[in-house]
Amino acid sequence: MSTAAPTVTPVRKKPLDYEVTVTEVRQETHDTASLLLDFGGAPVEYKAGQFINIDPHQFPALRCLTGFLQEQKGRRELFRSYSMSSAPHESQVAITVKDEEFIAGITKYPALLAPYLIHGRLKGARIKVQGFMGPYHLPDDVQERTDHLVHIVAGSGAVPNFAILKDALHRGLKLRHTVLCSNKTWTDMLFREELDKLEAANPDTVRVFHTLTRETDESRFGPKVRKGRISQALLEELIPDRPTCLVYACGPAISPWERKKALETRTPATPRFMETVLGHLHTVGVEDKRIKRETYG
Ligand SMILES: Cc1cc2nc3c(=O)[nH]c(=O)nc-3n(C[C@H](O)[C@H](O)[C@H](O)COP(=O)(O)OP(=O)(O)OC[C@H]3O[C@@H](n4cnc5c(N)ncnc54)[C@H](O)[C@@H]3O)c2cc1C
Repeated sequence: MSTAAPTVTPVRKKPLDYEVTVTEVRQETHDTASLLLDFGGAPVEYKAGQFINIDPHQFPALRCLTGFLQEQKGRRELFRSYSMSSAPHESQVAITVKDEEFIAGITKYPALLAPYLIHGRLKGARIKVQGFMGPYHLPDDVQERTDHLVHIVAGSGAVPNFAILKDALHRGLKLRHTVLCSNKTWTDMLFREELDKLEAANPDTVRVFHTLTRETDESRFGPKVRKGRISQALLEELIPDRPTCLVYACGPAISPWERKKALETRTPATPRFMETVLGHLHTVGVEDKRIKRETYG
């Protein structure tokens, strides 16, 4: 088994512009929905784990909010990226969008696009998207690099890994999968039933674990659902083959504005999921070159 870093083989060099129809908006959890997208026969070539971009300026209903936020932030609002929750072999292309919590006194600006994608009654709407892109996918020679893929995700970070898992199983890649999902509560767990089904259908190759940081119902906890954050001890327990596994980690990291504020106030930014997990992985002996990461936010 090689220890070289995963190589990246882009599907396309330049993303294409598409106009797609939202055929369904399917509620996944209380704050998360999947949008099924019909590309109308246009060639759809992507790798599991890649994302599309959506420009908020295209939506008349967001015109005022977009203008207001641009004025407040002193810059043009950027495209938002959304990973496909679908895998390339599936007939429906889907993205899955989470509406982040508004915390009074902490959330600086109202979120722009995610609430609209989820609650804007977009079923039947034509929207412009740009795709497909991103290096967060399996290298072509993944089976030569490892036999164990470790998925470590938080919140909507589950989206690309769900696609990667489905794709690897569909293609019959000789890989074992350990899926470790971090969420706040039981009702926040994304793709819980689907992951359970994949585990039941592939008992020798798929193991799914959850950690819940704010769940108060103790009856939810057990060997597969642990209390608290992802810890160093849990990673040691679940990844015995640390020198040879490949980790795909996706979730929130310190945002650019948190970094800027930290510099201005000379106070270190509080580590978020990604910084904490990377720290634990390094400590337990997973080499950085064996960790593929994607940060949201
Ligand atoms: C590669 C990639 C893939 C992604 N895939 C997914 C996915 O599959 N599903 C998903 O749900 N999300 C995904 N995201 C995140 C997504 O792109 C958006 O960031 C997310 O939906 C929030 O966008 P928004 O417009 O709703 O909120 P935003 O308007 O971006 O606001 C989000 C938060 O940031 C704060 N904020 C924004 N700008 C500033 C500022 N200048 N200073 C201080 N605070 C600020 C706001 O107050 C708010 O709390 C992905 C991101 C990346 C980079």
